[in-house]
Amino acid sequence: MPGFTQQYKDLSPSRRLLLGPGPSLVHPRVLRAMSTPLIGHLDPEFLVIMDEIQELLRWLFQTDNSFTIAVSGTGSAAMETAIVNLIEPGDRVIVGMNGIFGARIAQMVTRCGGTVVEIQADWGTPIPLDQIAHQLQAAGPIKAVAIVHAETSTGVWQPLDNLGALCHGHEALLIVDTVTSLGGLPVKVDEWDIDACYSATQKCLSCPPGLAPLTLSDRALHVIQNRNTPCQSWYLDCTLVADYWTKGKRTYHHTAPISMAYALREALRLIHEEGLDARFARHQRNSQALRAGLEALGFTLVPAPGHSLLTLTCVALPEWLDDKTIRSRLLHEFHIEVGGGLGPLAGKVWRIGLMGESSTFDSVVTLLAALEHLSSQANPSVQPGKAVSAALQKYNTWPR
Ligand SMILES: *Cc1c(COP(=O)(O)O)cnc(C)c1O
Repeated sequence: MPGFTQQYKDLSPSRRLLLGPGPSLVHPRVLRAMSTPLIGHLDPEFLVIMDEIQELLRWLFQTDNSFTIAVSGTGSAAMETAIVNLIEPGDRVIVGMNGIFGARIAQMVTRCGGTVVEIQADWGTPIPLDQIAHQLQAAGPIKAVAIVHAETSTGVWQPLDNLGALCHGHEALLIVDTVTSLGGLPVKVDEWDIDACYSATQKCLSCPPGLAPLTLSDRALHVIQNRNTPCQSWYLDCTLVADYWTKGKRTYHHTAPISMAYALREALRLIHEEGLDARFARHQRNSQALRAGLEALGFTLVPAPGHSLLTLTCVALPEWLDDKTIRSRLLHEFHIEVGGGLGPLAGKVWRIGLMGESSTFDSVVTLLAALEHLSSQANPSVQPGKAVSAALQKYNTWPR
């Protein structure tokens, strides 16, 4: 075997201000929690940690659901857990398709042998709920409706009013993706009658990627317990995973990612200390200030009026601004990460996340200052100072 010619250096990634679509910045307390010594995943002390995580997740999801856990894996693993457990061959599923993540759900449904009934909307607009109502009537028996609450590819906030009741009136389950909303925007699982709701640690929970909160209603559990075919994923099978999370059982299924559980517990404890109302207000204030600054530079919001997310701002670039050059200069000269566009929006938009620990006054002012500097170089008619003043004006006039 050839020897290694090079010395491997100490790990020292640059410090970045993470303002993309995830991961977001992580609180030092969470990083500290991750370096806590390991205990076994069946150690009675670890079981207490799991109980606390479940309790805090129920509080955050605003639910009494007994099945409220953290799936081992990222957001897509929780998405897949919901789909593989609830959907069997032959099932018909209505899927809201107005961005990347609706399309991902549809692929998973197809892989489970289900049939997708697509409800399309333009990228940037929410799914019209009346079309879901129409399809529930017209498309024959529907097993479930799956929809994305916060479409990270377009920055669209999807209203969910009465959707749960509508689905249940047609014996359909409601599956909601709250990956980019949980912890940044209200998610009310019980009030909204959601049957399967999932998220991820690295967006508004401000934890590293690696775990994915998931809650299932008793109605969803009943469907899972009465499947005709075994769930084709062994790893994500909720009936097996539940035996590990259920008090009194705690049967080994797979080894829990201990350090990530420490991290999630600490991240949830930080959210609990802050309080939900204060946290949502912070996300709102910072996103409004960011928007004011971006608009002063000539960026325009992509989502339809009234449907912009407060956790992720998707803006169309002014035509004089070159996506790749400016994004790369933001990263290399200012150590700021923002997200580019996906699919049909590639090269045309930016996705700026102000999630969890990244949603601060400092983030907003730092990004806008760097951006107006770069913008004034690209376009001499842009006055430096303009964007930061517009944001500060928003902060100064914000109702207290
Ligand atoms: C990020 C994201 C996912 C996927 O999560 P991963 O952690 O990347 O697997 C799913 N849905 C939405 C809306 C997301 O933003």
